[in-house]
Amino acid sequence: MLNIILFGAPGAGKGTQSDYLVEKYHLNHISTGDLLRKEIADQTELGKRIKSIMDAGRLVSDDIVIEMIDNAIAKDTQGILFDGFPRNVAQAEVLEQLLAKHGRKLTCLVSLDVPQEELIRRMLERAKISGRSDDNEETIKNRLKEYEAKTLPVADFYEKKGLHVKVNGLGDIKAISASIIAEIEKRK
Ligand code: AMP
Repeated sequence: MLNIILFGAPGAGKGTQSDYLVEKYHLNHISTGDLLRKEIADQTELGKRIKSIMDAGRLVSDDIVIEMIDNAIAKDTQGILFDGFPRNVAQAEVLEQLLAKHGRKLTCLVSLDVPQEELIRRMLERAKISGRSDDNEETIKNRLKEYEAKTLPVADFYEKKGLHVKVNGLGDIKAISASIIAEIEKRK
């Protein structure tokens, strides 16, 4: 059973590439960002607590996302594509325990490599159609700062375990998918 992390900065193309991978490998797509946005859209108690944090481009607390991931793994029967999780090393450590608890192992972490100017350009472009309240210039800058300070070390965490695969995230979308799939095929 495949358990893959799709990793990269905001704007790296995780959402787009997730669609291809989910279709090809019949994976369950678990995006913590999507799950959190649903809480806000549904105006749940949790949604009300996290809205201002997400609007500021900061990470919500680990406990919240870890509970979501624990539930998602428990329900899954087909393999998971993690998108937007883990976002810091503490979450990566918990993910290891959760996977082990469910008798699973991580296949690999695929990181999409995209230069910062291109990330900003893509997010500002997306802002015109996404309707996401965190797709504005100020918040984008904060999200990139959070990524560099807290999320980037997650790639090193998996590098040390021999599970980090880097893929060029620039260029033709289908060519990027093909590179990702080639890497997954080597490791499955
Ligand atoms: P994303 O859709 O992955 O870009 O996430 C949008 C926002 O949701 C982030 O800026 C964070 O505020 C929050 N978020 C998503 N995933 C996580 C996570 N694993 N840990 C903490 N906050 C998260």
